Formats: sequence, structure tokens, C-alpha cells
Amino acid sequence: MILYDPDLIQAYTDYGIMLPISPARAPRIIDFLTQTGVLDTHPLKPVLDCPGARRLLGESPGPLINRADLERVHQKEFVAALYQEGPEGSQGLVKALLKTYELIDSQGRPHRYEPDRAVKPLAALFHLTLAQVEGTYLACRLALKQEGPTPGFCYYLGGGMHHARYDHGAGFCLIHDMMIAARKLQAENQVQRIWIIDLDAHKGCGTAELVHFSRIPGALGGNQDAAKALEISTLSIHMAQGWPLDEETLHAAPLGRAPWIKGDVEIDIEAGAEDTYVPELQKGLELLEKRSQNLQPDLAIVVDGSDPYEHDELPSSSLLRLSLDCCIERDRLVYQYLRERGIPSAWIMAGGYGERAWEPNGYFLRTLPDA
Ligand SMILES: [Zn+2]
Repeated sequence: MILYDPDLIQAYTDYGIMLPISPARAPRIIDFLTQTGVLDTHPLKPVLDCPGARRLLGESPGPLINRADLERVHQKEFVAALYQEGPEGSQGLVKALLKTYELIDSQGRPHRYEPDRAVKPLAALFHLTLAQVEGTYLACRLALKQEGPTPGFCYYLGGGMHHARYDHGAGFCLIHDMMIAARKLQAENQVQRIWIIDLDAHKGCGTAELVHFSRIPGALGGNQDAAKALEISTLSIHMAQGWPLDEETLHAAPLGRAPWIKGDVEIDIEAGAEDTYVPELQKGLELLEKRSQNLQPDLAIVVDGSDPYEHDELPSSSLLRLSLDCCIERDRLVYQYLRERGIPSAWIMAGGYGERAWEPNGYFLRTLPDA
């Protein structure tokens, strides 16, 4: 099943943000799958939009993701700023967005930010972000709901904000959709154990921080239910160098915060070592399973970034250059691994930049009838 919401496809340039994020990525995946005929022929492939998903799940209209869901994961003062109820009022949200998208440089000048070209207010990005959190949550619910001989599978063409931290946004990620969805599902007793498997080129530093803090009573975020946090296990396979593991970013971050904090299973891929990627990922999955004491999770969330692809256009993902075949092999390995163990999975699109960012995700989805 694919979850695709055309209403959420927006150009960042509309907000004056000059990033190579193509609004065509998700529509091109749908076009490609339609042209190749697989959308019509395979039971995995019905495409739902968010309103359709809500109807299928029996949800009534109204916001599915509320402030309490954010506060289960993020600092209350940060959440208040996003809802424009902090001491700075509406400026609190604008400041959070400027920081998240790195729109002001160290000299206080606009950086890849041209507010004069904006046709929408920057603050509107918060509502778009909340809608994507809802999409991620719906994808998890859809994966859990499916019954049949094979485990549930839902691919959401959105979301993936894995750099968002406890008390601020970072790396184009304002709040952490997967953790918000995971903790909400736990609170609703829909799941107990969850794996988050992160295949994006950049380390899932926000995920590692949020999981780490929430496991320690009394630490930042330690007001959470630590026992439930223990049941979220993480794997991240990413570039060994480059943002957020470059020297400048590491030195600017206090010790004990992201990106210093390690996830449960971390695999650093050195530049030029692309041929080790798939074997290392295989070993990482086995380690994740072992660390979970062979207790099977109720759900896996896969952060399926396409920015490890050799044709990605973001300079900060250039240290990992997987071929298209390798990207497909990567995804099929994770898909088969989960399927053989009967683990339902929600796949989230995550990072991918430039006009060819749709290719790894699109070609993987095309392979599914043969999986
Ligand atoms: Zn990335």
C-alpha cells in the first residue's frame, strides 16, 4: 500500500527557501509506477491519500496529531514556541524555522533564503510539517492494520524528519515525525516494540538523541515513560563523515547531545567504500535483532532516504554515492529481512535532493511484485 497526498506536495521556494528539494519527487514516483502498470496489478499497491487512509482506519475528521503528541517527544517550551504561545509569540515559530532550515548565517545574513520571492508565509511550514507527521502516523497504522499471509507494508511518500532534536529543529527537520508516531502508537497500546531503521545518507542524529534521553529518567526528555522508550531500537547506516558528523558541527554541539549520541546500531560508511554498504547493512540488521534479544518488534519504521544515491544533488550527501542497483538492493534487503520475520513495516521517504531523487524509491517500489 502506498500513501500519497498531493496536497502535501509543496515547493520550498514558495517560502523563499532555496534548497534543491524537488516538489516533483513523489508525483514522479506515482507517474513511473502508473506507467509501468504495477499500480494496477499488485495487491501491495493501492494508493491512498490521507483522507482516504483516515476513512479506512475509521478516524473521524479533525486533527489526528495534537500538541500532547509532540510533548511526548519534544521539550514543552519548544512545542509552545511552535504553537506561538511561548514568550516570543509568533516570532518563536519563525526563529525555530530559520534555525531548522539554516536560513541565517553566522553573520546574521540570509543564507539560501530569499524572503522577497516567498509567496507563502514561513510560519505556514509548521502546518505542512504537522500534516506530514500525520502521514507518518497513518502509514504506521495502515501497516499494522493489514492482514494476510505477508506482513503489512505501507510506503508513505513524505515525512522522514530524523534530525529534529529534543528542543530545536535541525537539518531541515522541525519535529520528529517517526518518534512522535512511535510514541503515540505505544501510548495507544497499538504496539510495544518498534525498530527504526534509517537508510538516509545522513546519520539519524535526532532519533538517537530522542531515544537516548527518553530512556534516562531525569535527563532531558526523561519525564517520558522510560520503560516504553527502551522498546524503541534504532539502526542508522550513513556517511562516516560530512554533516552532521563533520568537525564544525561536532564542535558546535555540546557533548552528550546530538550528533555525539550513538544510536543502538551505527554503521559508518567511508567515502569510496560503497561496495561494503549492503554487507554491512546485513550485519547491522542481524545486530539489531540480537540487541533486541531476539524479541520481534511489532512494527519497523524504515527511513528510506534516497540521498545516498550517486545522482543526489545536495552537496552534503556527496560522500556516499550508491548506484541505482545498490539502492534497490539496499531496500530489498530490508524489505525481505522484515518480511521473512513477519514484521509489519512503514516506509518513510526522507531525504532526497534534485531531479533524480525519485529514482531509488520508485525503482524499489516497482520491484515489489517480484519480492
Ligand atoms: Zn539525508
